[in-house]
Amino acid sequence: MLRFDNRFLRELPGDPEQINEPRQVHGACWSAVATTPVAAPRLVAYAREVAEALDLGEQDMARPELVAALAGNALLPGMVTYACCYGGHQFGHWAGQLGDGRAIFLGEAVNRAGQRFELQLKGAGPTPYSRRADGRAVLRSSIREFLCSEAMHHLGVPTTRSLSLVSTGEKVVRDMFYDGHPVAEPGAVVCRVAPSFTRFGHFEIFAARGDQQLLQRFVEFTIRRDFPELDLDPARDLAGWFSVICERTARLLAHWMRVGFVHGVMNTDNMSILGLTIDYGPYGWIDNFDPGWTPNTTDASSRRYCFARQPAIARWNLERLADALAVLSPSPADLAAGLEHYDAVYAAEFCSAYAAKLGLRDWHHDDADLLEDLFDLMHRAEIDMTDFFRSLAALDVDRPAVETVGSSFYRDDLRQRHADDLARWLARYAARLRLDGLPAGVRAARMNAVNPRYVLRNYLAQQAIDAAEQGNPQMIHELLEVIRHPYSEQPGREAISARRPDWARHRPGCSMLSCSS
Ligand code: AMP
Ligand code: MG
Repeated sequence: MLRFDNRFLRELPGDPEQINEPRQVHGACWSAVATTPVAAPRLVAYAREVAEALDLGEQDMARPELVAALAGNALLPGMVTYACCYGGHQFGHWAGQLGDGRAIFLGEAVNRAGQRFELQLKGAGPTPYSRRADGRAVLRSSIREFLCSEAMHHLGVPTTRSLSLVSTGEKVVRDMFYDGHPVAEPGAVVCRVAPSFTRFGHFEIFAARGDQQLLQRFVEFTIRRDFPELDLDPARDLAGWFSVICERTARLLAHWMRVGFVHGVMNTDNMSILGLTIDYGPYGWIDNFDPGWTPNTTDASSRRYCFARQPAIARWNLERLADALAVLSPSPADLAAGLEHYDAVYAAEFCSAYAAKLGLRDWHHDDADLLEDLFDLMHRAEIDMTDFFRSLAALDVDRPAVETVGSSFYRDDLRQRHADDLARWLARYAARLRLDGLPAGVRAARMNAVNPRYVLRNYLAQQAIDAAEQGNPQMIHELLEVIRHPYSEQPGREAISARRPDWARHRPGCSMLSCSS
């Protein structure tokens, strides 16, 4: 069973106040808060790999005490519940205190191998950080977080994980598009798991409040607990540590740009200090390639968080973290080196990811033009990103043909209009491949290892949601199974790699999402 060792509580100051009402919390990193029990919890799904990492077997997952704990209805020995104080820049502006408004920690589980995991219930009731909201989560957004965090993990993208998805038997009222149409929707609680849920905003709040002492303490704690392999002296190596954060963030962003993931709300409170994908809200996957696409309707007019801007936004967020850390630094200019490191690592990671996606031996300077032209063509011709790169592995370099990637078009008229352009691009690409001289089988294997066949397309998640809301969770299980092996062909699962169907093009939940969750 789970064993807990709650260092966050032990080593960092807590809020002396116990009242569970929205308020500003000063001089503390966390507030003790009880979860609010739900009427009729039911375990809808769980990720067995995450359970295994926590030394939980199938029988453990079936135990009523555990299910009750994963719903916020009971505590297991060693569990302690609390919420964290953090702040953040939202859509480019300092928003002050935010904090865990609907996430409640259960503590830090340590497995038999000594690995440490924070456990967090999302949607288990209000906390002092809930502001005007209810602390709950709806089933649809919980299914999206549960499935996508697991999908990302299996794609090789750093991410927080999900242990369980529990339906609550209670309704939660949401006005999905903030347009005066509130609906009572089924509620759920996800138990999410990560070595640390610490965000950039944790550091920003103490800096913004001028609480240098608490900021220093929090930095020291984070380095000790979350970066033990670094063996850094926080007093001397602040810039070195920041550079590591920049590097991890750069790697993360290169992954997002490789797989076609759009986070949707890259506020600094949604940026993980460990460089994990965190807080799955109105995220989406690129179907037809469009650099300016964002799934988040709240961001539709400014497109701050659209696909192509993500790497620049991550850097902007790192700058805000640097501003916070500068308060502690004897020579703040040293932090700038970390930002330059971000640029360099991101560029290198992006090039090596795309060299692999294109099946190139390595990246040549001129390949940037080849790729730019491809992106431009994919955009104009509305070519499906996932399907195109996956299909490309089958190209005959001696007789390149548009038909090889024919399944990637959404529209026949655009296919006809751009066929000649695509044929010319494929000929150029084939010439580049001949220069490399990799045997076809080797090249295809290299490409198929980085170009997924299966991603959690927006419409697939929505179909699973529609069925689950009608009481049928089967598609959640099917998707969970398929996303375990995103790079393998899975006969019989063709429907799950299919391009977005026409009905989903403008449907809420498939192409349009909001922060309302
Ligand atoms: P997000 O951008 O969705 O990660 O959320 C921003 C802030 O709003 C965080 O502090 C969340 O904890 C809080 N929040 C979002 N939804 C709720 C909710 N239903 N109840 C309480 N707090 C919420
Ligand atoms: Mg958040």
